[in-house]
Amino acid sequence: PLKNKSAVVTGSTSGIGLAIARAFAQAGANVMLNGFGDAAAIKQICDDLAAETGVQVRHHGADMSKGDEVKALIVDAEQAFGAVDILVNNAGIQFVSPVDEFPEEKWTAIQNIVLNSSFHAIKAVLPGMKQRNWGRIINLASAHGLVASPFKSAYIAAKHGQVGLTKTVALEVAETGITCNAICPGYVRTPLVEAQVENQALVHNLPRERVIREVILATQPSKRFIEVEEISALALFLCGDLARSITGTAIAIDGGWTAR
Ligand code: NAD
Repeated sequence: PLKNKSAVVTGSTSGIGLAIARAFAQAGANVMLNGFGDAAAIKQICDDLAAETGVQVRHHGADMSKGDEVKALIVDAEQAFGAVDILVNNAGIQFVSPVDEFPEEKWTAIQNIVLNSSFHAIKAVLPGMKQRNWGRIINLASAHGLVASPFKSAYIAAKHGQVGLTKTVALEVAETGITCNAICPGYVRTPLVEAQVENQALVHNLPRERVIREVILATQPSKRFIEVEEISALALFLCGDLARSITGTAIAIDGGWTAR
């Protein structure tokens, strides 16, 4: 379904971003990966995915906290593939602290990586998308783009900002073939979350299953982690032509979290 399309997925060397990049490649799109990690391991991911799917898979190491590098990522992808038809703003980090103690450099880093990089990347891809009159922009926000929890002020402010940016971009391009949407997941099973389970089990001296139900998934009514394939399936659907009228929305995929 994505044959002859090209995609950039930021923060795609692990977790949700990698699952989305994989789904896009399997659907026939060339993919530019981005994110940190061991160079040999990243090269292996690119080579394996390219061999499995037959598309071009590249990696660009741009640091999403730096506007110039975000722009360079888009320019590089446009040169390599001839176009960027699909952009997924997925790179993100978390930091937990009461707001009156929140380290200023952490606050700034989160705004830059989550919100400002989304702006820079969207600004850079839009001229080409407008010219071709087709584009899909997906901002990987969070349930925390819709509701709050204590101690995650920077992340929640940035994720709410991403949802606002999503709506504004959608309105500006509403009469074109470009859509812009946010995906708002609850807790997704990633290596990071798995490590949190182990850590909280020790801290609270509780068995794994109780930590998952009562601590990690306290806000998630399904009491089940969302799998990365559920997120990538939604992203893939949003890229289809039958999703052309879905724009400016923030789609929750959160086991009922934001329904409460
Ligand atoms: P992850 O930690 O597994 O992956 C994050 C990716 O971003 C990695 O590839 C990392 O290298 C990259 N990255 C981090 N800082 C970067 C920077 N400065 N420049 C470039 N790349 C950078 O995270 P994940 O759980 O897959 O999360 C992906 C996105 O989904 C994030 O925006 C996150 O906020 C959001 N999200 C995650 C969950 C969850 O439960 N895992 C829930 C809701 C939203």
